[in-house]
Amino acid sequence: MNDPDLGYRREAARLAEALAQRGAKTSIIEQLAGLSKEQARRVIRVTTGQEPRSGPLPVSIATLLANRRRHARLSALARIFLALNPTPSALDARALLRTWDLFVYLHGTAAADDLKPITFTELFILARDLRIGNAELRRCQKCGLSWLLCHQCGTHLVACPYCKLGLEPFFSHP
Ligand SMILES: [Zn+2]
Repeated sequence: MNDPDLGYRREAARLAEALAQRGAKTSIIEQLAGLSKEQARRVIRVTTGQEPRSGPLPVSIATLLANRRRHARLSALARIFLALNPTPSALDARALLRTWDLFVYLHGTAAADDLKPITFTELFILARDLRIGNAELRRCQKCGLSWLLCHQCGTHLVACPYCKLGLEPFFSHP
């Protein structure tokens, strides 16, 4: 007998596996693939061979912008997300996977210095904050690049990170 839910469950399992491969935490897989906590934990164990990490998700992107270089990298991630998903109405797992894979292809997860790597969890929080209006992209009048404005961030981060990093030589040719 045909099980009408079988296709849906297979799709959810594929999605959960793709998320686990990219390091998504249990609660993100639960939310995006519609699995139970135990199912999500099992997918992580089977896919990565590692124990799922627990702990709460960051409440806002504000906690992730530790310094201007990270701010610049997360601005690049936000640009890719919004370019691929101009009107994100709901958190779409496939949109997040597309964004993540392109970001990693172009930028890698680790910076050249000793910055903490960007994680899939951060993309999830960033996309959520962009969707609910806690953050937005703003175009810098000076250098022309779009940067991530986070409405809950301290005033030291309410400025274009590229200009604050002193990248002017890259913007003006002799
Ligand atoms: Zn600028």
